[in-house]
Order: sequence, then structure tokens, then C-alpha cells
Amino acid sequence: MREKSTLFIVVPCYNEKDVLPETSKRLSEVLENMISKNKITDESRIIFVDDGSLDNTWEIICREHNTRPRVSGIKLSRNQGHQNALLGGLMTVKDECGCAVSIDADLQDDINTIEDMVDKYLEGCEIVYGVRKKRDSDTFFKRTTAVGFYKLMRFMGVDCVFNHADYRLLSRQALNALAEFPEKNLFLRGMIPLIGFKSDCVYYDRKERFAGESKYPLKKMLSFAFDGITSFSINPIRMISTMGITVCFIAFLILLYSVIRKFTGHTITGWTSIICSLWFLGGVQLIGIGLIGEYIGKMYKEVKNRPRYIIETYLK
Ligand code: UDP
Ligand code: MG
Repeated sequence: MREKSTLFIVVPCYNEKDVLPETSKRLSEVLENMISKNKITDESRIIFVDDGSLDNTWEIICREHNTRPRVSGIKLSRNQGHQNALLGGLMTVKDECGCAVSIDADLQDDINTIEDMVDKYLEGCEIVYGVRKKRDSDTFFKRTTAVGFYKLMRFMGVDCVFNHADYRLLSRQALNALAEFPEKNLFLRGMIPLIGFKSDCVYYDRKERFAGESKYPLKKMLSFAFDGITSFSINPIRMISTMGITVCFIAFLILLYSVIRKFTGHTITGWTSIICSLWFLGGVQLIGIGLIGEYIGKMYKEVKNRPRYIIETYLK
């Protein structure tokens, strides 16, 4: 069992004026409750990260900071996107807290689960994933696109926890490990499982956004999925190589077929040679592109400069 420690709740906010006052109130209650149960220290905080909002989100954060003792704020110089805002918040506070929970401002994720996360942390987990049980409250469209999103990720070879978004607890050790990843194309859902350490999941029901609208329309979701795949997997490149080999195989069959056709006299002059070279060259070219891709994939891995290992314990 761990000693109680300082919990920071990091909340990225982009144009969230409608939800912020309520979010701040409810999260403060959650903190007070856990402090009174002696699970977290009195220094625990809520950190709102204003991701260059265009409305008066920052004014609201300032107001909340002045009226509620546990609310702090970070303002980014411009809109950098959810993932960057979240990482920015976590990295800014990592040396002040024992553990940090990240959660969206709209409170679609059940905030009562934070206590379960802290319990797991106190039991010794370094990472606790919040996982949605079901998606009844989401619209049909959001639900199917979201399920498609995770399926696509799996298919493309990106290791991420199914139905887990960016609602999770990270201990200070996990935060320090995350800081070792210098990549610029952030896809936190894929990066966190790479960290390792003792991890666990807590389950909750996802609620409706209680005010404001989703900042992730289909277009952003697609580009997010594309980011995830291209940052974590060279499977698309492998697919080209596989396709090249398949095409070469087909070329071989076509070669047999067209030679038979030629000798049985069913063809006009020139067809056999054209059709054979067409398929064969196509296959060879695809293999060539795939091969170049393999090297580019390797270079990409080097450029990302991810840590090769992360030490969990060192008994001296
Ligand atoms: N967000 C952000 N910057 C952006 C877009 C979104 O910080 O450029 C925040 C937003 O304020 C919210 C979280 O990211 O706290 C998730 O966004 P949203 O709830 O709209 O996504 P959804 O739940 O619809 O996937
Ligand atoms: Mg949401």
C-alpha cells in the first residue's frame, strides 16, 4: 500500500465556457471528498488548461481560480489541439504531484471513477485506464464511428486499450517515463501502453455531454485516427509489399494463362507480351516501393527517438 499522495486533475479546455463552472464545482467536490477520506493530500488541485479558446474560457478559469481554493489554470498561447494541451498540462505539473488524472472538460466520463483510480494507485498501480462499459448515451453516429476507430487501430497494428479515451491516472513515475518520449505527433492512447509498469483498468458508463458541443467532428476524428496509425505502425507500408508479392504471383498465373492462349491460337499478336510485362512490372514496382518504405519506416522510428527501455526499479 502507498501513502496518500497529491492528486492533480488535468482538464484540457477548448471553448468550454458552457461547461466550465459546473465542471469546476463537481471536480472540487470530488477532491474535497477524497481529502476528507484521507486518500489524497490537501495540496491536490484541478488544473484547467486553456487550449487557446476563442470564447471567454480563460476568464472563467481565472474566476474559478479566485473563488475556489483548489482550482489552477494554464493558458496556452494558441490552440494546439487536445493531445498537445493535455500533454502540456501533465508535463507542467508532473514534478508537483504524486499522480495526475486527465479528464475532458465536458464530464462525459464519470468523475466518481476518479476515486477508484486513486484506490488502484494506492494499491501500487502506476497507470490506471478508464474504460467505457457501454456507449448508450452517445449518438448512433458517434458510437459507430468510435467503434470503427478502435477496430481500425487494431487492424493497423496500433496497440491501444479498447474503449479507453484520454481518461486515465498516471503516477509520477509514469509521467516521468512519458516525458522521455520526445515525439511531436502525439497520440497519447498509443504511447501510454508503451510505457509499461503495473497497470489496471476501471470501468464506467459514459454520459452525455451536458453542455456545449463535441470538438471532435468526423473530420478531426479521421485525421486523429490517421495520426495514430502513421505514428505507431508501419503496417500500411507492409501492405504495399504484400500487395507487390501478390501481384507478382498473379503475374505468374497470367503468364501461364496467356502462353496457353497464345499456343492455342486465341490471341492477336502482341497481347501476350504486353499483358505479361504489365503485371510483372507492376508487381516488381510495388515490391520496390514497399522495400523503400521499410527503410523509411526504420528511419521514422529512429527520428522519433523513443526511449529503448524504461527502468522500473533499481535495487542498489
Ligand atoms: N479540446 C482541446 N483542444 C481542441 C479540441 C478539444 O483542448 O482543439 C478538449 C475539449 O475542450 C474537451 C476534450 O478536448 O475537454 C475532448 O473534446 P470533446 O469532448 O469535444 O470530444 P468528444 O468527447 O466529442 O470526443
Ligand atoms: Mg466529450
